Amino acid sequence: MNPKRVLEAHGLEPRKSLGQNFLHDPNVLEKIAASAELTSQTTVLEIGAGTGALTDVLAHHAGRVIALELDARLEPILRERLHAFDNVQLVFADVLETDIAALIGDEDYVVVANVPYYITSAIIRHLLESANRPRRLVMTVQLEVAERIVAKPGDMSLLAVSVQYYMRPKIVMRLNPAVFYPRPDVTSAVIRLDAHAEPPVQVPDEASFFAIVRAGFSQKRKQLKNTLAAGLRLSNEQALTLLERAGIDPRRRAETLSLAEWAALTRAYVSA
Ligand code: SAM
Repeated sequence: MNPKRVLEAHGLEPRKSLGQNFLHDPNVLEKIAASAELTSQTTVLEIGAGTGALTDVLAHHAGRVIALELDARLEPILRERLHAFDNVQLVFADVLETDIAALIGDEDYVVVANVPYYITSAIIRHLLESANRPRRLVMTVQLEVAERIVAKPGDMSLLAVSVQYYMRPKIVMRLNPAVFYPRPDVTSAVIRLDAHAEPPVQVPDEASFFAIVRAGFSQKRKQLKNTLAAGLRLSNEQALTLLERAGIDPRRRAETLSLAEWAALTRAYVSA
């Protein structure tokens, strides 16, 4: 059912502050579900169920759907729409306040999410830091964010390194603002992230790896010898020695490094 009409029938207006832009194009909903490659064995965590348009499609394809929604005003709409499905569990909570591993248990699961754009990175971080990380994530995000996530050395960011360490990212399709109600001001994209079977690079420990990556990106457009010295509290001389041992030109900037180079830097740092 059309989200505009459903909301009107319940006397509700979409809330901009909750990033409520609802998908109403059936082809887009089917394509999102298809790119998640669901089977009757799959457990799906849907984040931001809204009026349930995507939940409905997911429930047809998956074994089990756990749908999270923050806005309690939408509860009657969701219950009405989804009551016929015995494989849907509705949870009214803030995803960022939810312990994902406690909710899912140790089951294998896939995330499908069309969430507010201002919390995309926070949600990805929350999922990647969970004790049970998803096997796959299919997310509707702002096109610029999708492009930042799939970036290559030259345009890397803390977000790109963090995502690519755990997952293989791919842009599935672009979405015209017209497929949402109300229309967002930006172009969107559906991005798919698949968990690596093995990390793509070997690091002695992940905490040091991420501490070094964070230090590297701590100051925009500065050379690594400066950002690492400041971020890791090293003297300039120590930062230079570290970069030399990892075989990295100290004048380079964080956005130019590959995952393999961050890993080399971590090995040099840990063995110092
Ligand atoms: N999935 C629906 C669709 O595609 O039409 C709704 C998408 S709408 C862009 C995002 C939904 O996420 C809204 O229903 C909003 O209330 C919900 N939401 C916003 N912040 C949230 C949070 N922190 N945790 C869970 N849901 C949230």
